[in-house]
Amino acid sequence: MKVFKFGGASVKDADGVRNLAEVVKHFALDDLVIIVSAMGKTTNALEAIVWAYCDRRDTKELFEKLRRDHLAVLAAVAPEDVAAAAELVLNFDDLRGLLSKPPAGNVDRDYDSIVAFGEVWSTLIVSAHLRTVGIINTWVDARTVVRTDEQYRRAGVDWTTSSLRASTLLAEVESVPKRIVTQGFIGLSSEGTTTTLGREGSDFSAAIFAYLLDAESVTIWKDVPGMFNADPNRFPETKLLSHISYREAIELSYFGASVIHPRTLQPLQKKNIPLFVRSFKDMNAAGSVIDAHSENDSLIPSFIIKPKQLLISITPRDLSFIVEENLSEIFKRFAERNVRIDLMQNSALAFSVVVDDSPRAQALIGELGHGYEVRYNDGCELITVRHYDEATLQQLTKGKAVMLEQRSRSTARFVVK
Ligand code: ASP
Ligand code: MG
Repeated sequence: MKVFKFGGASVKDADGVRNLAEVVKHFALDDLVIIVSAMGKTTNALEAIVWAYCDRRDTKELFEKLRRDHLAVLAAVAPEDVAAAAELVLNFDDLRGLLSKPPAGNVDRDYDSIVAFGEVWSTLIVSAHLRTVGIINTWVDARTVVRTDEQYRRAGVDWTTSSLRASTLLAEVESVPKRIVTQGFIGLSSEGTTTTLGREGSDFSAAIFAYLLDAESVTIWKDVPGMFNADPNRFPETKLLSHISYREAIELSYFGASVIHPRTLQPLQKKNIPLFVRSFKDMNAAGSVIDAHSENDSLIPSFIIKPKQLLISITPRDLSFIVEENLSEIFKRFAERNVRIDLMQNSALAFSVVVDDSPRAQALIGELGHGYEVRYNDGCELITVRHYDEATLQQLTKGKAVMLEQRSRSTARFVVK
């Protein structure tokens, strides 16, 4: 069994769906799980519907546009599949029904129930198209497999129950080969409500299915030909990381590299399942491999730049030393406000942290002002360089004021403005 994951950009229109079928035809003769995200910007559009719905504003226009667009793509890629068209229409009716009722009061729960439709629509379309071009497949609702807790919008996986469900699924799928089309990003809580794993979570879903089914490998098909040592949209001369370890990939995604969802690697590492990152635009390019081998990790310096950072420095008002008691109290407040610390450093009197600038972080600054003197700098960038050399560091910090710096043997980090 292999797992292929296709993101929203790969199925943004009818041509994208046709291309997906070409990729599947070319590579996957054996048993395969195909995970497909919502088409193009559908999830953003559904989010807009959620906010309108919760504010009791009209959602009709947004809804009708999504409906039109999806039905048009289905008509283009599976013109004769009357059953699929009927099913897609029914699905839109379900969402319309949901939106006609008043919000239940839990915004995050409503969010998950509404946003999940995008993944269902895209997979219905892909499944129908694959059938149309002769690729036998079974459409599966991922919620029958992925069991989660009740943390809406960032659900945690119940691995034991999900594992049992995955075995049942395999036994039930009768098509030969066992080719499954299913959704990423969504799951079902033990209460029977739809949950989601967090934005861009379908990479993680690919890893979940791979783990549950003991897959041979996972391939994430992207619009870039692999993992690079820096964001190709920002830097003209990036290099492909053709082979790195799970550890290195986890570090890179932790520091903010956005190619793979950060939760994806752990389940794969546990079962030693290799992850390939390849381009759906050039399916013959080799792409990147991520597995247990770390020999190549340090060959190329990788750098990640996070913009819009706040550098906050926190000093006890009575100028007492920063000690464990203050620190645990400060951490608690960050945790309660759900503000993630990207970097920290302390001196005798001050504790400095770098966080994403957000309304939550701003509120926290106000709150900390009661017991501490809090100063901050906004508009900073956090630069992380893995396997650095001096030339790379100089190039990246040239002409910028370095406000804080940290180096370990493998990683250098700078806060610059
Ligand atoms: N469709 C979801 C999103 O856009 C999940 C994903 O694409 O991974 O966040
Ligand atoms: Mg998406």
